[in-house]
Amino acid sequence: MYQSKHERFRNDGVGGMTGNAIEITGLRKTYAGGKEALKGVDLTIPAGSIFGLLGPNGAGKSTLINILAGLVNKTSGQVRIWGFDQDVNPRQSRAAIGVMPQELNMDPFFTPRGALEVQAGLYGVPKSRRQTDSILEMIGLSDKAEAYARTLSGGMRRRLLLGKALVHGPRVLVLDEPTAGVDIELRQMLWANVRKLNEQGMTIILTTHYLEEAEAMCDEIAIINHGEVVVRDRTQALLGRLDAKTLVLRLRAPLSGLSLPDGVRQDSRADGRLALTYPRSAVSAGDLLAAVAQAGGEVVDISSEEPDLEDVFLSLTSGQAA
Ligand code: ADP
Ligand code: MG
Repeated sequence: MYQSKHERFRNDGVGGMTGNAIEITGLRKTYAGGKEALKGVDLTIPAGSIFGLLGPNGAGKSTLINILAGLVNKTSGQVRIWGFDQDVNPRQSRAAIGVMPQELNMDPFFTPRGALEVQAGLYGVPKSRRQTDSILEMIGLSDKAEAYARTLSGGMRRRLLLGKALVHGPRVLVLDEPTAGVDIELRQMLWANVRKLNEQGMTIILTTHYLEEAEAMCDEIAIINHGEVVVRDRTQALLGRLDAKTLVLRLRAPLSGLSLPDGVRQDSRADGRLALTYPRSAVSAGDLLAAVAQAGGEVVDISSEEPDLEDVFLSLTSGQAA
């Protein structure tokens, strides 16, 4: 149904020429009431990537996505989707993107097949080029194709929303918190679909509250806070920025008189274990074990914890949540 990455870059000039699926410059949005939701965002999203947009509630993620989707008018700035400037080529830029919204807004009188056909009609996809059956199969609704939407479960409706975002074969698929509040099975199905679409060449942009999910899924991440991009980097590079590491020890008996190197924080875990958080650039795990032995501590069990995206996120947004 979709071209490979290689074919796409060869055949489809515009976006492929810069290598960016999305190019945003100086994007501002002030809502009618005066709320400044985006304060001059610059962001490029490489073609072919899975890109995560993270940030606390009210950061401006949905505003950004809705501007990309053409659902919200920007106040100023420039948005190019697959090389097409939204203001100069609105039709092409809209055709290049498909959006799976967070809310389940769905006409209860359409069947899944009907909903996909109507959506394809809205995008001007000729009947001969519609992919209704293969989309139904992909989202696991072939056997529900003729069922009324009001008889579908919440999970099925969500999958149908994904299907609707795909009817016009967009280059870029945007998912706004697709897994918020869904069960594990549906989450896994959604991610399997997203990975498959990405392997077939589609650029994926998603917002999520689950940092573990962003860590596992996204090649690159932008963190947005109070309408500004505070960091944008490859996921692994972002994690590597954090110097803190934690050594967790179970001791035979509680310690007194433990003298630790500078910069080391000591916490007692609820299960009784001792957690020592240290700057790995300055202190080694060996230094910590030596200090524990010095204080007469006997280590029964030992493990270490790497920083995760949550630590990065907190260090960048702490104390300034909206
Ligand atoms: P996020 O998706 O990151 O939670 P939003 O983009 O939904 O953030 O919201 C960013 C800010 O803009 C919030 O302060 C929110 O209250 C405000 N906002 C969002 N939509 C509107 C609207 N239609 N009118 C006025 N303010 C809005
Ligand atoms: Mg939102």
